[in-house]
Amino acid sequence: MRVVSGIQPTGDLHLGNLLGAILRWVRMQDEAECLFFLADLHALTVDIEPALLRANVREMAAALIASGIDPDKSIVFAHSAVPAHAELCWILNCTARMGWLNRMTQWKDKAGKNREGSSVGLFDYPVLQAADVLIYQATHVPVGEDQKQHIELARDIALKFNNDFDIELFIPPEPFIGGGTAARVMSLRDGTAKMSKSDPSEQSRIHLTDSDDVIAQKIRKAKTDPDPLPDDPTLLEGRPEAKNLVGILAAMTGETPETVLQRFAGQGFGAFKPVLADATIALVGPLRDRLIELRRDETALDAILAAGAEKAAALAAPTLAEAYRAVGLRG
Ligand code: ATP
Ligand code: MG
Repeated sequence: MRVVSGIQPTGDLHLGNLLGAILRWVRMQDEAECLFFLADLHALTVDIEPALLRANVREMAAALIASGIDPDKSIVFAHSAVPAHAELCWILNCTARMGWLNRMTQWKDKAGKNREGSSVGLFDYPVLQAADVLIYQATHVPVGEDQKQHIELARDIALKFNNDFDIELFIPPEPFIGGGTAARVMSLRDGTAKMSKSDPSEQSRIHLTDSDDVIAQKIRKAKTDPDPLPDDPTLLEGRPEAKNLVGILAAMTGETPETVLQRFAGQGFGAFKPVLADATIALVGPLRDRLIELRRDETALDAILAAGAEKAAALAAPTLAEAYRAVGLRG
């Protein structure tokens, strides 16, 4: 079993990333060979200050390690340090079809009304993501619900490449969506929008770097409705904010939404929110404090990333060589 997953080094890690991705990665480290990368090439698809990007790669590496990713167990590296990703992406660009990419909802969301003015990179992002996964022959790709469509695209690309060149090279990857309510954590300001690093509102998400006071304040101000909580989660349909907050607490305590609601049925958010705030602080606080320690030692972080890149490059090389051979290049 080989696990590959990535995170963009843009903005701060938030509760959605943590519950939907990183804490699941942490749990997988003992069961599988794991590669976790900072998707800095993906970060180029949005406007970003070069100096900030460089700093963010280190910061996100520190955030992963603070959250429990152990560089002695897992391979941690930056995308751009392993050129095989970009090389395979080019080959796969010639396999992927425009029509497939046109259907990607993330592209539609992120480009919005400005498709003509969007970068080709933003459009092509899912092909690079396919290369990220296929280059390592990953068997499992743990992602949040929002990435399911991209992993299915990677599957289609893998199958078409294998078929076109009559070779069993790529393993069609499986999206490995976390069970339960963590797979899609929603914004604290709008229960119908995903909690996202690129949401302009800081109030929409809880960051790994937030102080206890800021966490408590964001939860106090989180959008809710005036009704009391029901005893049955199906009664939360049509109440997206309430459903989200119950789901977040359930994901953090390891309970089901049913059990959470049993404790709060008939009560309003005045009773619920302080409990949610305490649970969030108990989860995020220690990780944040470790992050503050880790980010002090840039040399150590750079060494971890360099060692990770070397190991990843060695794993990527044979697949890239075979892909070149299959298409008729390089011997
Ligand atoms: P951006 O808005 O810039 O795309 P993001 O918040 O979606 O940022 P990514 O770096 O794209 O963060 O995603 C990292 C991982 O976190 C992915 O596995 C993704 O599926 C997961 N993830 C992101 N947002 C959520 C969320 N709201 N709930 C659960 N998982 C999420
Ligand atoms: Mg995203």
